[in-house]
Amino acid sequence: MEKWSPRTKAVHAGTRRSQYGEMSEAIFMTQGFLYDTPEQAEARFIESDPDEFIYARYGNPTVKMFEDRIAALEGTEDAFATASGMAAVNGAVFANVKAGDHVVSSRALFGSCLYILEDILPRFGVEVTFVDGTDLAAWENAIRDDTKMVFLETVANPTLEVIDLEAVAKLAHAKSAVVVVDNVFATPVFSHAVAQGADIVVYSATKHIDGQGRCLGGVICGTTQMIRKTIEPYLKHTGGSLSPFNAWVMLKGLETMQLRCEAQAATALKVAQALEGHPKLARVLYPYLASHPQCDVAKRQMDAGGTVVSLDIKGGKDEAFRLLNALNIISISNNLGDSKSLVTHPTTTTHQRLTDEQRAALGITNGLVRLSIGLEDGDDLLADLHHALDAI
Ligand SMILES: *Cc1c(COP(=O)(O)O)cnc(C)c1O
Repeated sequence: MEKWSPRTKAVHAGTRRSQYGEMSEAIFMTQGFLYDTPEQAEARFIESDPDEFIYARYGNPTVKMFEDRIAALEGTEDAFATASGMAAVNGAVFANVKAGDHVVSSRALFGSCLYILEDILPRFGVEVTFVDGTDLAAWENAIRDDTKMVFLETVANPTLEVIDLEAVAKLAHAKSAVVVVDNVFATPVFSHAVAQGADIVVYSATKHIDGQGRCLGGVICGTTQMIRKTIEPYLKHTGGSLSPFNAWVMLKGLETMQLRCEAQAATALKVAQALEGHPKLARVLYPYLASHPQCDVAKRQMDAGGTVVSLDIKGGKDEAFRLLNALNIISISNNLGDSKSLVTHPTTTTHQRLTDEQRAALGITNGLVRLSIGLEDGDDLLADLHHALDAI
């Protein structure tokens, strides 16, 4: 399997068949597992092999198939699946820090990640320093001898800033800090986070892995030591495990993820290129546009620019709302990575909690809208966007 290309791993890696030889992966919709004897139960609680299960909060065959498949695709030894992307972020962070530790994080984070790092960790005596993720000197100044963890989103929401992971990981590893990457926007398809220095890669499977708007889920990828000795004990006892049904949806989602992401990214690039310079737009933000401030880093670090494009509409909230109200194909929703194209206005939704100053510091203007490009025809999407821009 090691030699298989990602397309083959996406379809076959991790498959476990029952005695019935089912072709498609089975959903093991069970909370518990039976033992033949009390001796067997005792032995399994001491040490269980990968095909021995105890209780679905600890592990389940369908969940295990999903974990093994995503680990094979990500290039890590192991993975632990969680009930949501935030359960994954929470597990990756809390399993690795204790009171008195120091963490350095980029400031441009998904809102709930920022809440964990900014509001919850300090309550438990963990000190967190935030930096502008694109400023390597700032990382260097912030990472100390006692820094335990570095946390970053390689491509930040919603301004799509790109952080030089290799450079940050080098600085972190020089101080023996663990590098945790929330890699949703880079996608498992276009990123090489582990090769570039990430120790732990976290995904909200809700996004591109499902990719069809059905289930919440998440996953933490890392070494066997990290996943089974640090992450699993924390998550299996605190209850963040993924349900077997949702694991099955994610497992089947992985089979088509590369095809979907490649098609969506190709359309995203086409939309970004076609709209750049439009008189109603102040900026078009997309990592693979030459005008993007970190275009060089993006091209070095990722195989494509991703499936999200942000548009900065001249004017502000009124103009942005007029665009959203005039769209016919593209729906208003704050999800992303879906086969349906979606649009959101961060200032009034996902980033409403921030102050005006915080939003300004992150480059989130009142006219900014975030487009998640789906699987529709690119020309149809462009026609929808041109029509809506005309309505402003
Ligand atoms: C969506 C998202 C999350 C949270 O995932 P859920 O599945 O909604 O819990 C975390 N980080 C990033 C970057 C995301 O886009």
